[in-house]
Amino acid sequence: EGAALSRIGLAGLAVMGQNLALNIAEKGFPISVYNRTTSKVDETLDRAAPLDLPLTGHYSPRDFVLSIRPPRSIILLVKAGAPVDLTISALLPHLSPGDSIIDGGNEWYLNTERRLADAESRNLLYLGMGVSGGEDGARHGPSLMPGGHLAAYKNVEDVLATIAAQVDDGPCVTYIGEGGSGNFVKMVHNGIEYGDMQLISEAYDVLKHIGGFSNAELGEVFGEWNRGELESFLIEITADIFRVRDEEDEEEEGGELVDKILDKTGMKGTGKWTVQQAAELSVAAPTIAASLDCRYLSGLKEERVAAAEVLRGAGMESEEDLLGSLRRGGIDRKRLVDDVRQALYASKICSYAQGMNLLRAKSDEKGWGLNLGELARIWKGGCIIRAVFLDRIKRAYQRNPQLASLVVDPEFAREMVQRQAAWRRVVGLAIQAGISTPGMCASLAYFDTYRRARLPANLVQAQRDLFGAHTYERVDRPGSFHTEWTKLA
Ligand code: NAP
Repeated sequence: EGAALSRIGLAGLAVMGQNLALNIAEKGFPISVYNRTTSKVDETLDRAAPLDLPLTGHYSPRDFVLSIRPPRSIILLVKAGAPVDLTISALLPHLSPGDSIIDGGNEWYLNTERRLADAESRNLLYLGMGVSGGEDGARHGPSLMPGGHLAAYKNVEDVLATIAAQVDDGPCVTYIGEGGSGNFVKMVHNGIEYGDMQLISEAYDVLKHIGGFSNAELGEVFGEWNRGELESFLIEITADIFRVRDEEDEEEEGGELVDKILDKTGMKGTGKWTVQQAAELSVAAPTIAASLDCRYLSGLKEERVAAAEVLRGAGMESEEDLLGSLRRGGIDRKRLVDDVRQALYASKICSYAQGMNLLRAKSDEKGWGLNLGELARIWKGGCIIRAVFLDRIKRAYQRNPQLASLVVDPEFAREMVQRQAAWRRVVGLAIQAGISTPGMCASLAYFDTYRRARLPANLVQAQRDLFGAHTYERVDRPGSFHTEWTKLA
């Protein structure tokens, strides 16, 4: 009977769970699957049947658990939060000491730490595993970020290494660290993803409104960018998006779908958590914060429509007039494309620098020992932010694991300096034209603040000392000083 037991189990058969289960089975690992609503078990069986995969469906937690070979490893892919607790409670009575629970959801890292401690008290093992790559990644090779009990990782290392995306330097999985580190890393990955998407949307906005590029031309530009230093999944899908025609277009005007999409962005919370954590840890993450703020502002569609009217009436030059005068001045479109590409790249480096520094700060606080170069490596394939340039980030941290910031790595520093003129031109042009580029501006301000040896913070500190006796340090001698400013003024 033992031979019939599955190598692994997976509970939660929505989009992610079904696809990950099929991926695991296809790689030759016998798998048991379960879902609270049994119709999803049948759906999964129906999908597996034509492929003749070693996948068995189970309709009760007990049958499911008992069908897995001990020590059992069970992946959960249910909605984050209470559903994870409920699913664990349903499985618990049937688990044995040494079994592992692996939560693959986008879970808040502290929930994982709480469950991990609870599992430990029952002699169970626990992993919180970030899974990135959406539906397609789950089915054909995701990027996996497992953190928690190392022994639980060791139990499934062979499975994870086989089902993950494969890149030139190995599978896109590594043991991240203890506790909730896997979830935390996935959260920051998502924050970085927000930044990338925002920066791409700004590049689009500038090219469209200042350069007057059509969707067909934008598709070409992004297609070309995807063959250079910006080569990445997000640039690639952006090129594809511009080419899709609107099939609901009743007047048959031949427009593209992208123009018919309401300018409101949804979100599920990981970007917000990233910004909250950055604030908690006193790490500047302005590009990621700007992308989050933009999602909030995008949600105020009605208010924005009303504001556009009010502020036009208030005597501001209309966008069309501004753009008209800019265009009359003459826009070199070829140069604009080249400048925007460079602005996008430089802005992106700053955004990754922020994300990486957030990870390092958390790692120091928690003692996780995160290997930033290895994190960049496992993001090279499978996940949404996969990009050629992650290999360069990997190498930057290999050269110097203590690197203070990506922007001072010798290679990236050279690139930043080379691109700053183009970057400033794009941001300047956008400001002149009244086209908001919050992500690019935030990155540029971050860069300009970070690279300056002396900031006006002396004045802020003087103010603090004046009104609150907060004291100050001096540039010319050690110690802490206070001045009775108003008596001297
Ligand atoms: P989902 O829509 O987040 O969750 C649906 C699953 O959760 C179903 O199996 C559902 O069971 C179960 N569930 C919901 N409430 C439950 C409850 N109270 N008790 C027990 N089970 C409950 O599914 P998903 O989109 O596949 O995502 C799964 C996880 O992966 C999430 O944490 C998500 O954030 C993460 N993730 C998703 C993506 C993506 O692209 N979708 C990418 C990366 C990570 P029933 O069928 O019985 O309702």
